Amino acid sequence: MKKIEPNWINSFKKPLIISGPCSAENENQILEIAKRLDKNYVEIFRAGIWKPRTRPNNFEGIGEIGLKWLNKVKKKKGFLVAIEVANKIHVELALKYDIDIIWIGARSTVNPFTVQEIAESLKDTNKIILVKNPLNPDIDLWIGALERLINKGIKNLGVIHRGFSIYKNLKYRNIPNWKLALKFKKLYPNIPMLCDPSHICGNREGIFEVIKKAIHFNYEGFIIETHCDPDKALSDSYQQILPEKIKEFFSKIDFKKKKN
Ligand code: PEP
Ligand code: MN
Repeated sequence: MKKIEPNWINSFKKPLIISGPCSAENENQILEIAKRLDKNYVEIFRAGIWKPRTRPNNFEGIGEIGLKWLNKVKKKKGFLVAIEVANKIHVELALKYDIDIIWIGARSTVNPFTVQEIAESLKDTNKIILVKNPLNPDIDLWIGALERLINKGIKNLGVIHRGFSIYKNLKYRNIPNWKLALKFKKLYPNIPMLCDPSHICGNREGIFEVIKKAIHFNYEGFIIETHCDPDKALSDSYQQILPEKIKEFFSKIDFKKKKN
């Protein structure tokens, strides 16, 4: 892989915290979560607009109108905003609504055709593009996705460690496989790595333990799902936490004690 200099991460606090709901559901939900997230901790607001559901007939995302709500979050609440894209149309809409950070989901990273299509439609963008690990523990697929983006002149890149698919595990929805993620980190120390404890755990109980582990491994940041009424969320209801929990947890961590 060509050497990249991702200094974008230095314009954020360390750790960078991205938070917000799994899915944008309605305008009130979006604005309420944004209001309840503490901006001293969270700099980027996330929300899924198109949802890659495992089975059909579940809530598959609100679509374009959600991008208008995210624009309100930007203007009224002052967050940068982040969404997932999975095809060319999503990218075009993300650019049209001036979404600041775009991520490629785990189900897209596994597919070179999809990544290529996304890379081509993002060509030469200065936006921050984050690539989640593929569902399966294949480090080359993850690297390959980054290479496709780099080949299209995209410079502000980062990765998200969201764990790897496994058939039924009591503790994790997606096993972290820290060894593999740390191997990636070692190979590409210039690419900031964020941890997604929500999708690793799949439940609320284990989230902070996973965050602590990632802090120990010096991850650059986190993407954490929050919802104003988690039990009623239209997707990933088991793993979303209340927005206030972010400050509650991170205010107790003394990052100065950690050497870089
Ligand atoms: C999400 O972030 O809501 C999501 C669908 O993530 P992943 O691609 O990691 O499953
Ligand atoms: Mn989710």
